[in-house]
Amino acid sequence: MAFRDIIGQERAIRALKKIVDREEVPHAFLFSGLPGIGKKTVAFSFAKVINCLNRVDNDCCEGCSACTRANTGNYPDLLLIETSEQFIGIDAIRSIEEELNFPPLEGRKRITIIDDAQKMTDEAANALLKTLEEPPSNNLIILICPEPAMLLPTVVSRTCHLRFQPLTERAVKDILVSRQFLDDKNAELIARVSSGSVDRALSYLESQYINRRELVKKRILEIFTCDINRLFEIAKEWGSEADFLLDDIDLLKMWWRDLIVYNLSSDRKVVLDVETTGVLEEHLGKTSYANLMKNYRLFDTIYNDLMRRINRQMAMERLVLGLRESINEKDSRSTL
Ligand SMILES: [Zn+2]
Repeated sequence: MAFRDIIGQERAIRALKKIVDREEVPHAFLFSGLPGIGKKTVAFSFAKVINCLNRVDNDCCEGCSACTRANTGNYPDLLLIETSEQFIGIDAIRSIEEELNFPPLEGRKRITIIDDAQKMTDEAANALLKTLEEPPSNNLIILICPEPAMLLPTVVSRTCHLRFQPLTERAVKDILVSRQFLDDKNAELIARVSSGSVDRALSYLESQYINRRELVKKRILEIFTCDINRLFEIAKEWGSEADFLLDDIDLLKMWWRDLIVYNLSSDRKVVLDVETTGVLEEHLGKTSYANLMKNYRLFDTIYNDLMRRINRQMAMERLVLGLRESINEKDSRSTL
């Protein structure tokens, strides 16, 4: 992907383009920020811009042999260190150190990207430190990690630090529409709860967030009004959906968090799921802050119970009875 195709991270891209324009590229960068906000995408594009044979407006062309091979992972002067394991060990760092001693094979610079650099063991980080202290010329190392505090201060101080901000809701929405082919309404819904992270938005998509949201909302409204037999039926149905329970409780916590925040500030801008909060408010009416907090704590308890694998149906019975009670406390005339 070229800089021009990246949605969001305009500030970081502007800074990098300026560096390319001045031809004053430092020997090491640190890209920090939340997971899933585009740090690695920007690092790859930056690497391509540096070695592109037909740079246009300080961006890569995507058509030259350097760009096309970088896109397929076959460019010899672009190295990536990443792991799905817990640690990046010293061997991984030693292997790049050996290569770094030779000049780049084709490009202006050899670029080494170390993703999740916080996974480096102390031994690996100390080995890298030596390279950062005396960097072989024509090399650029890009470290990627969520927080600089997760790295040795001596490593951080030898890099040019670029902090990436979470994406705007608009950027996440645009990415979901253009890359995941979501419709506008659902993309907006997920973007709203993604905390500016595409990774988070995608995990919401995988967890069938949109379908579950509708189902759980329908259930809650039924709990507020149904008879006692149906109440226990709902708990039984819910308890049998083991794969979704923890995510469902998270959803409830989000809605009640919205209700609590709105109860305190009346500011709609801070509400994550405006539509659901509106529907819940209609049913809960002017319920007290204490009542909302009681529900919120109940969700926490149920979540922990589920984590401890206690009987799921019983846990969900506690949940539905607790929610029903909050309606009764609002209107003391109604009874179970
Ligand atoms: Zn190119």
